[in-house]
Amino acid sequence: MDFELNERQKMIATTARSMAGEFGPEYWRKKDEMGEFGSEFWEALSEVGFTGLVIPPEYGGAGSGTTELMIAMEELAAGGCGMAGAWYLILSEVFGGLTILRHGTEDQKRKYLPGIASGQLEFCMALTEPDAGSNTPNIRTIARRNGDYWIIDGDKTFISGADRAGGMLIVARTEPREKVLCRTSGLSLFLADLPDQSIQVNPISKHGINYSHTCSVNIDNLQLLAGALIPPEGGGWKCLLDTLNPERMSFTAAGIGIAKLAIHKAVEYGWSRKVFAGNPIGSYQGLQFPLAEAYAGLEAAKLLNLKAADLFDRGRDSAEVGAAGNMAKALMVENATKAVFWSMQVFGGYGYSREYDVERWWREINLVRLAPVTQQMTLSFIGEKVLGMPKSYVTS
Ligand SMILES: Cc1cc2nc3c(=O)[nH]c(=O)nc-3n(C[C@H](O)[C@H](O)[C@H](O)COP(=O)(O)OP(=O)(O)OC[C@H]3O[C@@H](n4cnc5c(N)ncnc54)[C@H](O)[C@@H]3O)c2cc1C
Repeated sequence: MDFELNERQKMIATTARSMAGEFGPEYWRKKDEMGEFGSEFWEALSEVGFTGLVIPPEYGGAGSGTTELMIAMEELAAGGCGMAGAWYLILSEVFGGLTILRHGTEDQKRKYLPGIASGQLEFCMALTEPDAGSNTPNIRTIARRNGDYWIIDGDKTFISGADRAGGMLIVARTEPREKVLCRTSGLSLFLADLPDQSIQVNPISKHGINYSHTCSVNIDNLQLLAGALIPPEGGGWKCLLDTLNPERMSFTAAGIGIAKLAIHKAVEYGWSRKVFAGNPIGSYQGLQFPLAEAYAGLEAAKLLNLKAADLFDRGRDSAEVGAAGNMAKALMVENATKAVFWSMQVFGGYGYSREYDVERWWREINLVRLAPVTQQMTLSFIGEKVLGMPKSYVTS
């Protein structure tokens, strides 16, 4: 067992750190306040090849794996970008790149991957629905075959980046829920080009991550050519797991990065701030211990997350990847939330002012317990699938 990064991975980590230095907290404070996309950052990501990190060279990418993507995301986040260090890459490279790479047809790969790798083509994923929520197989968006076309109708919510993306991964039912015996059967994945007048997109006002818009999406009579379906028809659930697992792992890398950034700033401030008898506030164990506990938990989450990424890159079964990925995410949520909470405490009242950034990281870290999967659903997965305990809820 080797815990050392190889030379290529070290280079990726160094590149990410130096990029994060250029696009640090001040840049994202402004972007978040203005609700503006970080275009300069996106261009820089594509220049260093991060937008195509997992895409093979024959489609214009760097030919690395999700392990390297996790390293880049964590370093970008920890180096100063916070959630932005992973967010745009999740939307395009994970939702678009990895899905198409793993399960797309050769035509789909040739059509989409070079654009994703170069950063010219942004992507998004339309999975969540207002009435289905965490119960994904209950989605109602329906795709009906009509000659050479698929006709798609449905409502989606919380679709990040849908206002800018040129491509959308749509999860729909090709067989209604009532007609399938197994609840995960009859789901299919489609690739749509945006903008399209049959897809209406409306940004939702939200708590944080305002440098990217998350939107409600109405799909009304969308016509897609037969070739837009990622095969096999009706077997989309298995393919989707190869998108959802790396999505979870990416959130874990991002959460660890945000928390380490907040800890680092708290340590710095803890040395400089003196309130009683000339002692730096960082010397008080009441502040040190929770940060130390959180840091130890974050390091454990990181190792487990890299294990999940390694299993994914080796093509291991999605259940095995999911077990490591969900455990890593659960650990990250507990420890990253604790870390940012205590970082804010170290800053006292200044932690509440925008100028010190920790309030933004608090808004960002609040997302990881809710999305892409809630902490309760993650723990239910571990209870049922890893520990073999009875399922705690009824699915139909
Ligand atoms: C900012 C943001 C960006 C997002 N981006 C995207 C995106 O790009 N694409 C996309 O498709 N989706 C996206 N989502 C959606 C996200 O994945 C969902 O919000 C998430 O999966 C939770 O679903 P829900 O909000 O419907 O919660 P619900 O499923 O309604 O859950 C509500 C609460 O009930 C609890 N709960 C539900 N069932 C159980 C159970 N069986 N046992 C215990 N507790 C339970 C949950 O843990 C949660 O606390 C985004 C969400 C947000 C907030």
